[in-house]
Amino acid sequence: MLSTKTNEIVVVKTETSKIEGIDFNNLTFGRTFTDYMFYCDFENGEWQQPTVAPYQPMTIEPSARVFHYGQAVFEGMKAYKDDNEKVFLFRPKENFKRINKSAARLAMPEFPEDYFFNGLQTLLNLDSAWIKPGIGNSLYVRPFVIATEPAISASPAASYRFMIICSPAKAYYTEPVRVLFAEKYSRSADGGVGFAKAAGNYAAQFYPTSLAQKKGFQQIIWTDASTHDYLEEAGTMNIFFRINDKLVTAPNNDRILDGITRKSVIQLANDNNIDIEVRRVSVNEIKEASRNGSLKEIFGAGTAAVISPISAFEHSEEVFEIPTTKDSYASLFKTQLLNIQHNLTDDKHNWRYEI
Ligand code: PMP
Repeated sequence: MLSTKTNEIVVVKTETSKIEGIDFNNLTFGRTFTDYMFYCDFENGEWQQPTVAPYQPMTIEPSARVFHYGQAVFEGMKAYKDDNEKVFLFRPKENFKRINKSAARLAMPEFPEDYFFNGLQTLLNLDSAWIKPGIGNSLYVRPFVIATEPAISASPAASYRFMIICSPAKAYYTEPVRVLFAEKYSRSADGGVGFAKAAGNYAAQFYPTSLAQKKGFQQIIWTDASTHDYLEEAGTMNIFFRINDKLVTAPNNDRILDGITRKSVIQLANDNNIDIEVRRVSVNEIKEASRNGSLKEIFGAGTAAVISPISAFEHSEEVFEIPTTKDSYASLFKTQLLNIQHNLTDDKHNWRYEI
């Protein structure tokens, strides 16, 4: 861990909350931000005094390396409030570990654990009114790090800014999505940065995803870059296949993001005595299972939508519809995860973190 000066947070208060003007029943995901933000600069080899201040624009030099070389990593997590006004995060230590893994891959400094958790605590206490109780309501929390050093030589920056911003999210019913299995484009490669939450991984998906959307498919299921024969993950979700009563998901590797919802679903499958196999899943296996009727479900797992059912996929210009299944695993896991997140049920794995 890097040496640090003091982790005492400077708090700059706002006199006017924006909350009165917000319609919490009509939120578009990721467009509304709370009253406060957290930031901490890395200068001269050290993380400096962390600050919580009113959410506002900030000044960065045009030569900041983030704009030129994409040295940027981020996280996505959610805070929930129960009916007794207690606020919880879901497995935030996993996000903390992952942002530092991502940072290390992008040659960026790791952030200290106490800064991360004290920052979250201070920020969420100040923004508590933005977290609404009730299943599905949450506050999306976005930590990120950018290279701020004003220098355009192609090498790692000497200065960075770590930030956390928050955006209220409304419960929404997730329509099943139609997906395309990738045949031409790739999201990541062996030895690359696919396992990191690097900003550039997302930018690179926008163009192929927009082509898929023009064909009527909301998302792409990425396949391995070398053969396109094996199914890996979706743009912001890991992916599960149910064949008869067995669940299958791809193993983690350096092309796939090690999803926290994914590992929670694997644990819940074990808790529910559902057979789960973590192994490579081929496009042919899934097409064959769809043809012979053994493919019962495909669903994505990720922080934003928790569980997102998939109703059809396309490969080689052939569309495969997935009939709806009664007692779906997708709805079982979604209910169980939401109940844990909202403090409505036991938490035997200690996934809740109280703020
Ligand atoms: N894969 C990718 C590429 C993602 O961006 C995300 C969202 N973080 C996930 C999977 C799901 O990860 P998690 O369950 O930790 O949100």
